[in-house]
Amino acid sequence: MHTAAIVKALSNASTTSEFSGRYYAEQRLTNTTLTITVDGVGAITFPINKGTIQKLIGSSRPAQYGLREKTLKDTTVRNTHEITADKMHVAYEGKGFTAMMDKIRKALGLSDQTKLIPHLHNMLIYDAGQFFKSHQDTEKLDDMVATLVVALPCPHIGGDLLIRHNKDEHRFTSENLDGDSIKCVAFYSDCQHEVEKVKKGARIVLTYNLVLAGGEALDIGLANPVLQKALKHYFDGSLEIERAEPLKLAYLLEHSYTEHNLNWNRLKGADGQRARELASAAQACGLVPHLALVEIHENWATEGGEDGAEDAEPSELIDSGITLSTWFDKDNHRLPYSACSISEDEICSHAEYADSDPDEQEYEGYMGNYGNTVDYWYRRAAIVLWSESDQVAMQFKFDYPSAVRALVKLTQGPSNHQAVLKTIRSSGDLLFQYRSRSHPADKGGKPKNYLDSFAQIAAYIDQREVAQNLLRYFSVNELTASNVKSFVLLQECYGAGWCLGLFNKAKERSKTDYLFTGSDRPTKETEALAHAAVKAELDMELLNYIIAEAVDAHIKDNQADGRMRPRELKRSLLERMNDARALLRATFVLTNAAAGRKLIDHIITTPSHYSLAPCAEWLIDILRSDIPKTHEMAVKSLRDHVTRSMDGELSKGVKAANDWSIDSKLPCNCHQCGPVNVFLQASNESSKTLAVAQQHRSHIIGNFDGQLLPVKISVVAKGSPHKLVLDKWPNLQKEANDRFNDLKVLRERLT
Ligand SMILES: [Zn+2]
Repeated sequence: MHTAAIVKALSNASTTSEFSGRYYAEQRLTNTTLTITVDGVGAITFPINKGTIQKLIGSSRPAQYGLREKTLKDTTVRNTHEITADKMHVAYEGKGFTAMMDKIRKALGLSDQTKLIPHLHNMLIYDAGQFFKSHQDTEKLDDMVATLVVALPCPHIGGDLLIRHNKDEHRFTSENLDGDSIKCVAFYSDCQHEVEKVKKGARIVLTYNLVLAGGEALDIGLANPVLQKALKHYFDGSLEIERAEPLKLAYLLEHSYTEHNLNWNRLKGADGQRARELASAAQACGLVPHLALVEIHENWATEGGEDGAEDAEPSELIDSGITLSTWFDKDNHRLPYSACSISEDEICSHAEYADSDPDEQEYEGYMGNYGNTVDYWYRRAAIVLWSESDQVAMQFKFDYPSAVRALVKLTQGPSNHQAVLKTIRSSGDLLFQYRSRSHPADKGGKPKNYLDSFAQIAAYIDQREVAQNLLRYFSVNELTASNVKSFVLLQECYGAGWCLGLFNKAKERSKTDYLFTGSDRPTKETEALAHAAVKAELDMELLNYIIAEAVDAHIKDNQADGRMRPRELKRSLLERMNDARALLRATFVLTNAAAGRKLIDHIITTPSHYSLAPCAEWLIDILRSDIPKTHEMAVKSLRDHVTRSMDGELSKGVKAANDWSIDSKLPCNCHQCGPVNVFLQASNESSKTLAVAQQHRSHIIGNFDGQLLPVKISVVAKGSPHKLVLDKWPNLQKEANDRFNDLKVLRERLT
């Protein structure tokens, strides 16, 4: 894309003489009388003489330094004397110091609406041979952005301060022999810096923490017409290319920021000016500006070095990704947006991030095909822009449910067709995010059913193909009592045949596309859907399709349950009966005799899933309702089946007190299980002891599992092999007779 023109159009220190916004600012303190009094030493006179230096060192302590959260003392890293602020009284007479702070603010590129407030930190005395190796300051105060060093007149050679930012380096020299002027330098806190060894004399400085105040509202910079043109070109160019989601632009800033100090008016150095220019140009071009943190992650295969060794060189980029997070709008309000990815051609910057050292790196050992690998993380902040007209589309990325609501709301206006169509177009695949397994709505629950909203949108746009595309992931099983009314809008707009085609296509695709695993309507809600669909005047063909699909799904589920043992079948019996009842009633409502017949035939031919007594009760309940004429035959056949089966059972009569036979068998009849089955059916045997080897015992016991047979199993650990003891339940006859009596009562109710 055209990001090079955008970068070129932004203010650049090397091309603009007026440019302010460096990472450091050097000044001389003039028109000011500086007085310093140190406890135990007294007032200091300039230039500072040898006697005073010795006294100052006498009142000092060795300076420590911070490494992450720790404070350390290590004279090979930092070797200098320190006098803390509480032991000093420092005063500047005249306006010179205040004027200088303002010049520093400007030179650092900070907005005119802000103010730098110095907080005295300490006095440092670098005697001959002393130094401070390269380090980065820890931000000691909230809102601290920079450090100010005031070099006092004191003869010395060496002791230069080196300040580094990215690839740049600035040398601040304070050496003097009889100087009476006061040199100052300020630099941003994220700069690496070091103090070289003092060769002769002593380098004495005051250091200040600079805190930034003010600047709550964005100070929009001057118009930059070249930049505006470049941005327009970049975003208009995207119209020609079909994209999966709206085009964005992320300009990477040069300084580092955290979520705590990311703020439009507190951007450091050149970042501030460029951000203001981008924000101003964005407004002129109909773009929405944001501030965000960026993490660039790269995974490289390496060559050379030992196993996982750090001297290995990256050779081939395996994978990379750029993530934006922690969003702020132009009023510095934190936005509730989630993290999102951005493609590499959407980022630009003045300095290539890969030219600097990664903020974090991790070597990993051997990784299959790739050998050894190394991970790099670069952390930056960025100005992120996208088109105002893509705002709803972008919302799909950040907060899916509210974006859907916003789009549905648009469809409630009479003349928003173009706006709705544009949003659909620019949202691309983001629209279908709810179908993806990684979607937040998926976590801890079923995906939400969006058919209602999507049907409303698809009906509003009145474009067959776009509507079809929009609804391509919905199957008939997502139609419910609460969304059928919106679905009827589609029927009115595009015709029943179109709607049917939609479901048929989805059914075909659902076999291969995982995006179809979704929020299927529970079977028990089918009856409610039937009522609602009839009331909403859904087309007859669609009504029949719904019920045929639902009955087929129920039968298919039960077939899939074919391997279930009696225990699981019993556990799921109630739900199965309730589902079947809801389905049968739905066929009543829709007067669909074929579907009713199919369901009843299924019940009759699958007795393992519909045991006799519950089935009889279920039938009694059905018979109480109004059965449409179309279904009378089918219901009668079920009734005949049930009564015949009951009569067959009842004809066996009650179980005699000495009858120990059990009607069921183990699911296996092998050499070991055969004798057990004989015992189960034997009417004169209540207990049996079998001497069987351990592996065969386990096989038999395993076959009892889940069969709900009225037998107690125990193992007597005596002799070789041990004994397997089977005892039929002592209340076997009573239970059988209780069941017999219950069945008799039910049979009477069915006459
Ligand atoms: Zn067996």
